[in-house]
Amino acid sequence: MEVDILEEKGKKMKFLLKDSKPQFANALRRTMIGKVPTMAVEEVDFINNTSGLFDEIIAHRIGMIPWSFPEDEYRTREKCECESEEGCPNCTVEMVLKKEREAFVKAKHIKPTDKKVEPENPGILIIKLLDGQELELEAKGVLGTGKEHAKFQAASASYKFLPEIKINGEEVDNIEEVASVAPEKVKDAEGVIEADEDIVYAMNKTVDIEEGDEIEYTEDDNSFIFTVESVSGLEPRYIVKEAVRIIKEEAEELENAL
Ligand SMILES: [Zn+2]
Repeated sequence: MEVDILEEKGKKMKFLLKDSKPQFANALRRTMIGKVPTMAVEEVDFINNTSGLFDEIIAHRIGMIPWSFPEDEYRTREKCECESEEGCPNCTVEMVLKKEREAFVKAKHIKPTDKKVEPENPGILIIKLLDGQELELEAKGVLGTGKEHAKFQAASASYKFLPEIKINGEEVDNIEEVASVAPEKVKDAEGVIEADEDIVYAMNKTVDIEEGDEIEYTEDDNSFIFTVESVSGLEPRYIVKEAVRIIKEEAEELENAL
């Protein structure tokens, strides 16, 4: 198995997984989406709400805010030693929000007791308070997984098979780019196809091709181009690594059980 990072920028990462198996690629994709824990607010207690919105709507909006947090300092309640409904500082972050008078209340106004916990996007708008309105609440941030609720989803992740393209028997260099413009009839052709006017029109900006050239498109069933985009407070590279660790842990549990 071999990994090449093709692109890594902000919340997005693209990498090539070579000499693997479709089953593993799929397990990796599903684990990144559903099993990597992220932080979101799970409980909201309203102390005072004289705003124009119901408690439930505000609680829902707060619940959808993604948080960045020190990953190695928190665990899910399920795996926490406290085993309590209340939670403890290893599995739960207490947060408070208090605003009065006319104001745009944003994610950054929620104050977690742990300063290392921060909203991924401080500017997310929760509500606009009018003069004379008040909002005061306490909330609890916990770790959860996308499998439990979409608000905990770590990333959107997908993959495609690595394409291989030959023109007149010669492999092209910028395969990904060329593959992205190759018409369906090239991809569907079994083996070699002769380039016609349509094919040349679609592809000649990315590759040197003329009518009558022989073009062969295949896919490597054991190599995958992954695109991972974080939708949480986690970095994409961390999500990939954590997914691999989880797969390993599950395999070990199975081994031990046997
Ligand atoms: Zn705990």
